[in-house]
Amino acid sequence: MEVNTVIPFNKPYLTGNETKYIEEAVASGKISGNGIFTQKCQHFFQERYGIQKALLTTSCTDALEMCAILLNIKEGDEVIMPSYTFVSTANAFVLRGAKIVFADSRTDQPNIDENTLEDLITSKTKAIVVVHYAGVACEMDTIMALAKKYGIYVVEDAAQAIESFYKGKALGSIGHLSAFSFHETKNVISGEGGLLGINDEQFIERAEIIWEKGTNRSAFFRGEIDKYGWVDVGSSFLPSEIIAAFLWAQLENLDDIQQRRKEIWNTYYQFFKEEEKVSLPMVPDYATNNAHMFYVLLASLKKRNEFISGYKERAINPVFHYVSLHSSPYFKDKHDGRKLPNCDKYADTLVRMPLFYELDQKCVLNINSDSLK
Ligand SMILES: *Cc1c(COP(=O)(O)O)cnc(C)c1O
Repeated sequence: MEVNTVIPFNKPYLTGNETKYIEEAVASGKISGNGIFTQKCQHFFQERYGIQKALLTTSCTDALEMCAILLNIKEGDEVIMPSYTFVSTANAFVLRGAKIVFADSRTDQPNIDENTLEDLITSKTKAIVVVHYAGVACEMDTIMALAKKYGIYVVEDAAQAIESFYKGKALGSIGHLSAFSFHETKNVISGEGGLLGINDEQFIERAEIIWEKGTNRSAFFRGEIDKYGWVDVGSSFLPSEIIAAFLWAQLENLDDIQQRRKEIWNTYYQFFKEEEKVSLPMVPDYATNNAHMFYVLLASLKKRNEFISGYKERAINPVFHYVSLHSSPYFKDKHDGRKLPNCDKYADTLVRMPLFYELDQKCVLNINSDSLK
């Protein structure tokens, strides 16, 4: 890619096999959900990451909605989660009437501060939802121990966390439930798409039913029952085989995709290490880096805006995101008034640099060559 062309923030990467597999799916005569490609993708997550049961969904948002249904979240239940996250983390639980209790981020990185959680737990708390921001693990031992102590569930929003680990365990395989995203801005994509991970056996059977519109059709297809019917609430959470075929082409190339993203990430890191004006992302010893995103932190909102405009003048498009959910137009009147200063700091000072497969190292160096002047 030439540097004098516009450099977008993201560009979806195609491995080349997407349309071939879609043709195969179409030719097979089965294009609705839960066919061969769906099975392949689900097995991939189960085998490679040790997730007990994986179900493809039409988005990570949908997988999170399934989590809220599976946990029987109802009016008045409390769910703790970070404020520095995407709206879907919260919406899935708000839709079922939960009261969201937002937690602050850590001082050293944007993940939920595990040390603030115990004070937020009440007799109404049903779940803690963690978000592995930038694919970097939250402190899961502490969080799982708290959940055990108080008899509450842990949901991992692993939207950004494919191929990332906490003390050797794959993210998405640790909480009772987890949700991945294959939106076109993630490492592995299918346009829109997601996956529900289940690591607590009690949820498996019901998850398949909720997934299939509240029917026991999955069990019927396996020959376990001789007719299927309406047995529970549910919705249409499963994607078509066309989406699964696309996703399979991506998953087959995961190692290659990851290698390239890490090269780009490291090139950024080496460059910004020399820059006094920015702080670098921190990856704790217990976590790995899946190169989902490369971000830096500026000293203030003003400095962050200048940084972005400096790049924009050169047709390069870094972005910021996540206005703290506790102070969002929808939620600010519902928030209990606690200050969440670290969350506000990331909302004001974090910038994400362009990071996608086709952005080669030379290009990254050129992007930065006369920046920050
Ligand atoms: C991308 C993202 C989502 C939403 O994923 P979709 O597949 O678009 O629904 C949810 N949570 C986080 C943290 C994300 O980054």
